[in-house]
Amino acid sequence: MYRNKTCGELRLKDVGTQVVLAGWVQRIRKMGGMTFIDLRDRYGITQLVFNEEANASLCQEANKLGREYVIQVTGEVNERYNKNANLPTGDVEIIVSELRLLNASQTPPFTIENNTDGGDDLRMKYRYLDLRRECVRANLELRHKFCMEVRRFLDSKGFLEIETPVLVGSTPEGARDFVVPSRMNPGQFYALPQSPQTLKQLLMVAGMDRYFQIVKCFRDEDLRADRQPEFTQIDCEMSFVEQNDILCLFEEMAKHLFKTVRGYDLGEAPFLRLPWSEAMRRFGSDKPDMRFGMEFVELMDVLKGTGSFAVFNEAEYIGGICAKGCAHYSRKQLDELTNFVKTPQIGAKGLVYARVGEGGEVKSSVDKFYTQDVLEKMRDQMQAEAGDLILIISGPDAMKARKQLCELRLLMGERLGLRDKNKFALLWVVDFPMFEWSDEEQRLMAMHHPFTAPKPEDVPLLDTDPAKVCANAYDMVCNGVEVGGGSIRIHDSVLQSKIFKVLGFTEERAQKQFGFLMNAFKYGAPPHGGLAYGLDRWVSLFAGLDSIRDCIAFPKNNSGRDVMLDAPSTLEPGQLEELCLKTVLPGK
Ligand code: ASP
Repeated sequence: MYRNKTCGELRLKDVGTQVVLAGWVQRIRKMGGMTFIDLRDRYGITQLVFNEEANASLCQEANKLGREYVIQVTGEVNERYNKNANLPTGDVEIIVSELRLLNASQTPPFTIENNTDGGDDLRMKYRYLDLRRECVRANLELRHKFCMEVRRFLDSKGFLEIETPVLVGSTPEGARDFVVPSRMNPGQFYALPQSPQTLKQLLMVAGMDRYFQIVKCFRDEDLRADRQPEFTQIDCEMSFVEQNDILCLFEEMAKHLFKTVRGYDLGEAPFLRLPWSEAMRRFGSDKPDMRFGMEFVELMDVLKGTGSFAVFNEAEYIGGICAKGCAHYSRKQLDELTNFVKTPQIGAKGLVYARVGEGGEVKSSVDKFYTQDVLEKMRDQMQAEAGDLILIISGPDAMKARKQLCELRLLMGERLGLRDKNKFALLWVVDFPMFEWSDEEQRLMAMHHPFTAPKPEDVPLLDTDPAKVCANAYDMVCNGVEVGGGSIRIHDSVLQSKIFKVLGFTEERAQKQFGFLMNAFKYGAPPHGGLAYGLDRWVSLFAGLDSIRDCIAFPKNNSGRDVMLDAPSTLEPGQLEELCLKTVLPGK
């Protein structure tokens, strides 16, 4: 028996009992003739006491231990004289009578405590040590609980968890595929699934009716804080459903998860369903952060052509946000905001501001181009009051200008403390456009994916004006983050071929890549639809993390590397030969 208690469970009621604990030495403190050790396991920390006077040799043994040594101790639970209110076990300690060294440890490269001295790279290299830290472990515990509740909920609704293969063909979700060479089929490659999209649709054709899977997806794309080359989805699909059925069911799941995992009550009211075009108009984003207002107000009619400011007169969009009570912002603060919107990632040409004074008078950076009368009209349109600050962005490309204003709105929300991590605002964004134009590819691309059904009333537009077609697609958004998204699917092979055609696929290519799906649709495909959630993102939201990496046990860094395993790496020449592969590096 290695232990009969964990390091997290002893309390005052256990005083006087004999216990056996096992764990890691977190800290050793010597004070006079006493040695104190904090013993740690997954469940917590318990203080061990060794007394030189009572047992000199045992105390000497203890003094030889180092950080992260693995030990087993036997002893009696004692009430602590100096209680530690910060630890659940802080009322007690163990007077050790036996000590057994189970394994020694080298000095760890960083301190294994919440407040560590280890930098990001070092912690990732020794991730197994990083995971010993309570704050990191807590994220994995949360993730586990989250998955358990997802399974519990979906099971209660009749969903079957079905695994789909990882070695598949290309599954288009708009990113590059990771590919795997096939030794048995020389010169041929599998692709890792960007999502199980087509497979779950085939499961609907197969009559499975309700499917889900907590599943790894692989996308070879540029990485950011909320992206990993492999990430986990809660992937779901249902038959004989319309959009409303799906939204209602998954809204219920969201409420369940918030309540059981996060202890947060989202209330009874249904989530707002915001059409995409309205989201863009009011917030400049298809994933608006609704924890706060500061909605866009369009100012074209007030500011274009009513003064001599050429930038506005040439603009296709002029929009403002009103920052309540911020008229006192200093020149320096305003310069900071201007520099922020001018950074290359955001790309605005500049920022116009206007302060509303105590008497309602407007003082603006474009004063000299406008009469006070026009500026006051602008103030009224903005519904700005004394003490408010108006921030205005304009540009020749309305979509770009809106996105720039969106970034500014988020920054101001942050500055004004309106983006509280302990508050949650959820909504559905619906009625996405079916296609978006790609300058790079010079063709229409599927905004969601090519299997998304158009709104039935828009089907005729596919022949005349496909860019105007609305999709039967939806995203669930929480605090400015897209946590999930999906659509009603096409279940008719003729309509599916038509969409492929609009997307620029030749008949042969569509047949080669998706023949299996279109064929399946010829055998009685039920109407179906579904969605997928980004598990990592959702868990990070619950944990209040800035990066999804922190809730993944073994994440990759920004260049897609696993620095612990040192992957990816080159292959042995023999292995390459076996796979009929030759690597040619650029420029060599
Ligand atoms: N496969 C889609 C995705 O990964 C989700 C869905 O449409 O169900 O975004």
